[in-house]
Amino acid sequence: MKAELEQLVALQNVDTGIRRLQSDLESIPRRRAEIESEFDQRAFEFKALQQTGEAARETRAALDRELAEQRVRMEKAERDLMASNNAKVYEAAIRERDAAKKHISELETKVLEQMEAAESAEKQLAERQPEFARLREEHEERLRAFEEQTRSWTEELEERRRERERMFGALPPGIKATYQRIVARIRDGVALAEARGGACSACRMTLRPQILAEIRRGEEIILCDNCNRILYYQPAAQQTQHGTTVSAT
Ligand SMILES: [Zn+2]
Repeated sequence: MKAELEQLVALQNVDTGIRRLQSDLESIPRRRAEIESEFDQRAFEFKALQQTGEAARETRAALDRELAEQRVRMEKAERDLMASNNAKVYEAAIRERDAAKKHISELETKVLEQMEAAESAEKQLAERQPEFARLREEHEERLRAFEEQTRSWTEELEERRRERERMFGALPPGIKATYQRIVARIRDGVALAEARGGACSACRMTLRPQILAEIRRGEEIILCDNCNRILYYQPAAQQTQHGTTVSAT
């Protein structure tokens, strides 16, 4: 029985490791999303600069079209002016030409402003290009590390599951059934508890001296009266933080 209890402790350690790996793997999509959103925040300035430059270029294109219309208007006024044969037509053509001229001048000022805005955005983009390239590189590096970690955890999980199958298969049928029954019923899936300091280390219930002596002998499976876990005893020299490997003697 002693050996079987040791097998059970080892099985439980593997099961704990499997649960930890599963929860680590489950946390990856959330952690990945956090990294994506952090990158979006840091890349925001870069996108804003690109958008400013783009908006300035679009506005300028619209102004250019308007400018062309006003130049046509002015040329027509000038032709009317040359062809005028009375004062009334002449004055109307002058007014039309001056209005077009004024409008052209205003449009030209606006075009200059938009050109400057686009140039300034482009200049800033060019200046900060290395910074943004580094930011993107870092981000891609982090995503690659995530993929690498996912791959290695998945491999480790598969390996531990195989190990678990092997260990579980080596247990006597009665012990297998007891272990599985407890694992299925207990919320954290931890079926074994160390008897430590005269109490069950899982539920803290004090154990009677006679029970403690039986657990120490390890000749049969003793369940905690309170939490129903399988109790086991580890000599002081071997006591470790719960969940870590126990060396068998
Ligand atoms: Zn207990």
